[in-house]
Amino acid sequence: MATKLIYFFGKSKTDGSGDMKSLLGGKGANLAQMTKIGLPVPSGFTITTEVCVNYYKNGRKYPAELSSELEKAVKWLEKETGKKFGDVKNPLLVSVRSGARDSMPGMMDTILNLGLNDAATEGLAVATKNPRFAWDSYRRFIQMYGDVVMGIQKKNENDHEPFEEVMDGLKRDVKVKEDTDLTAEHLQELVKRYKKLIKEWTGKAFPNEPMKQLEGAVQAVFGSWMNERAILYRQKYRIPDEWGTAVNIQSMVFGNMGEDCATGVAFTRDPANGENVFYGEYLVNAQGEDVVAGVRTPLKISDMAKDKILGPAYKELVDVRKILERNFGDVQDFEFTIENKTLYMLQTRNGKRTALAYVKIAHDMVKEKLMTPEHAIKSGDPEALNQLLQPIFDIKAYDKAKKDGRLMAVGLPAGPGAASGAVVFTAGKAEELAAKGQNVVLARIETSPEDLRGMIAADGILTARGGVSSHAALVARQMGKVCVAGAGDIEIDYHKGVLKCKGVTLKEGDSISINGTTGEVFHGKIDTADSELKQVLVGKTLKPKDSQVFQYYDFMMKLADKYRTLGLRTNADQPDQVLNAVAFGAEGIGLCRTEHMFFEGDRIIAVRQMILAKSEDARKSALAKLLPYQQKDFEGIFRALDGLPACVRLLDPPLHEFLPQSDNKKGQEEVAKQLGTTVAEVAKMVNELHEFNPMLGFRGCRLGIIRPEITEMQARAIFQAAVTVLKEGIKVKPEVMVPLVGFKRELDLQVEIVHRVAAEVMKAAGKKFAYSVGTMIEVPRGAITADEIAESAEFFSFGTNDLTQTALGMSRDDSGSFLPAYQGLDIIKANPFASIDRGGVGQLMKIGVEKGRSTRNDLKIGICGEHGGDPNSVEFCHMIGLNYVSCSPFRVPIARLAAAQAALRHPANAPSAKVVKDTKGAKGATKSKTVSKR
Ligand code: PEP
Ligand code: MG
Repeated sequence: MATKLIYFFGKSKTDGSGDMKSLLGGKGANLAQMTKIGLPVPSGFTITTEVCVNYYKNGRKYPAELSSELEKAVKWLEKETGKKFGDVKNPLLVSVRSGARDSMPGMMDTILNLGLNDAATEGLAVATKNPRFAWDSYRRFIQMYGDVVMGIQKKNENDHEPFEEVMDGLKRDVKVKEDTDLTAEHLQELVKRYKKLIKEWTGKAFPNEPMKQLEGAVQAVFGSWMNERAILYRQKYRIPDEWGTAVNIQSMVFGNMGEDCATGVAFTRDPANGENVFYGEYLVNAQGEDVVAGVRTPLKISDMAKDKILGPAYKELVDVRKILERNFGDVQDFEFTIENKTLYMLQTRNGKRTALAYVKIAHDMVKEKLMTPEHAIKSGDPEALNQLLQPIFDIKAYDKAKKDGRLMAVGLPAGPGAASGAVVFTAGKAEELAAKGQNVVLARIETSPEDLRGMIAADGILTARGGVSSHAALVARQMGKVCVAGAGDIEIDYHKGVLKCKGVTLKEGDSISINGTTGEVFHGKIDTADSELKQVLVGKTLKPKDSQVFQYYDFMMKLADKYRTLGLRTNADQPDQVLNAVAFGAEGIGLCRTEHMFFEGDRIIAVRQMILAKSEDARKSALAKLLPYQQKDFEGIFRALDGLPACVRLLDPPLHEFLPQSDNKKGQEEVAKQLGTTVAEVAKMVNELHEFNPMLGFRGCRLGIIRPEITEMQARAIFQAAVTVLKEGIKVKPEVMVPLVGFKRELDLQVEIVHRVAAEVMKAAGKKFAYSVGTMIEVPRGAITADEIAESAEFFSFGTNDLTQTALGMSRDDSGSFLPAYQGLDIIKANPFASIDRGGVGQLMKIGVEKGRSTRNDLKIGICGEHGGDPNSVEFCHMIGLNYVSCSPFRVPIARLAAAQAALRHPANAPSAKVVKDTKGAKGATKSKTVSKR
């Protein structure tokens, strides 16, 4: 354990700085940085993340010296502020807040006003000359402490908070309506009742001694690192458990001492659309948590300019906005408090933003020279780019809904996009309906971190209360969910399960539609339409110059291209898929699954003839019928690629998939009729072909080895297509890929056929063309013997779908039945079929790369399993020196940004410069050399 457990920030000294996030957490590091650059930050200190890490390593025990260090730190803070813990005249009060390296909004615990007890409350009343304020602070503290440290919480989501119930009881007894109507005496009584509640629930008294309170609070904050919602959040955002949280203890300032006080949250730019406007909100005479919790709907920050009392503080805030962007080089999301007209900064962090805001802010701030291009790349969440492809309302349906008077309410536009679905009122119901494939909109009065699961499941989120910095808005923005927050006209009754607004009542399950770009809420369904980006790139119905969104996106993608060293390809089997992928930035096909082409039109009949053929001749005649189809397909693909490389995989399906199964007798009868055979014959063949686990059976190169005429037909189709397209003046770069190879000899047998057919086609056409033959590495033996296999393979492509199932011994088809539980039990961190299991499958890949390149140092290696579009896996591919990743067309932008981030994170791991990057047009029309030792 490092000797320094605590870092100070204050007028007399500041130990930390903004670049110490791993040790001090984001909040602690930035508090230190703001103090250093002279912003008004209340003094305090940070217990490091290392203490948290050690706490968990040692079975939830603190380092022995923490207690005495904590006492020393409090003494320092007392000196710094001139106040004393528990003092009857001028008590020191502190806030205790978590602070992980990456912010996890609302997921961990916070305690305010710590240090208050009966005596200190009297002291605070005297010092502030405001007894009501003192007793209100005390009751808030007991409430928070009771909840967070002593565990007094509602038992299920539709219960009332126990403390709220006590408060409501008192309000009834003293006959007042609002919290603000309670007098100092009432609050004093409330404190008594709260303490009684604590005693009844826990059997323990509320701790009076501030140092004891502090120890309990620190423990609770460390403990909250492992609460269910924090764990869920970390899983979603891949924040390692090992990072731990820091704890920040900071002297309190008060935004709730009167009309010259306020508290607020602001963004230096609009986090929903990226506009360069000062954006935020505040509440007069309130405490920070009131804004974030969304309990009162706050005022717009720009309104403060006109406030006679707070106007000067607003001017200071405008300066702070500029200073923060200049110093932190990114949009800042900050909290402030104004105590008797004096401004204090309580925290700042890089603002979470929607994908739209991300591309706009990055574009603008790079141009304004406020943000480095590197930071512009690093600060994006690749996965979030999906949001730019999210639907918007179909313009006609939207106009009609407005004309029909279906607009019910307008809230705050907190997460852009359109969502339409069944309205639900609980997280549980959202999960339940979403699991059944229904679109749902989760409507809550306000959301709290407990709603996280439901928010993940829902298509859209609607809240009746809360501002743009409320929990719902923050979390929605980060998840890229469509969100309308604070639609104040809406009334939600959880007990009755209804939502009411302007005479319309919606029951759970009724349709609702929300527009997160404008804040509008409609009853009924509204059809959705393609996003602007899709309209420009896919539908081509919108010109690039007419779409600003496209221009910001394009700027960022081009910037990413400057940094990434990984190539980008796509998994596509049809010309239109290829065109989409190329529009998104793909530089070729990394996997063309030829079996997908067999399902189209009438060709399935010829495929079935081929499967059911009794003799080689019969099979050949069926294949001859298939050849022209395949050739045409490849021609279309080559034309769409216009000179970019096409990695075509030889046939790799379990054959029974092409025949009607035993539960489809009618289908079998039809096939028997089509092929002039008996139903019994078809059924027999299906049974023979249907293995217990077909995914590991007679497929991959095994098929082409046992039935070489299939490989021959496919090779011929590829090469004849190449000749046809070359003759049209379009360049082609075919790469023939052999699947599921585990033995060099398997590959050799297939390579031989491909070369022979290539030579025959060239001779017949009188035209030469370049091509290469390589293999997929997708069984462990292939990876382990990659040095031998590379003797015959001109390239490798990792088929990580199969490599994962074969390395883990987990079928890719049924793993869904136990993987979620495995994640829950922490056996695995993430689904290995979605994100590469670096420790297992990843090691096989590493072996494959090293051994493969030990034979051919310029071996081109890619990946074409689903992992090729997963940012975490893309990073791993970069780290082990792959040349490219290949993914589905719509994930290309994600992989593009992820590849640039990986290059910035691991600059030393760029793939060997000897391997030529994919570019348009094959130079020279000769067959590239192979070193096949047949
Ligand atoms: C793979 O196994 O990763 C792969 C791309 O092939 P398929 O998914 O077609 O088996
Ligand atoms: Mg495979």
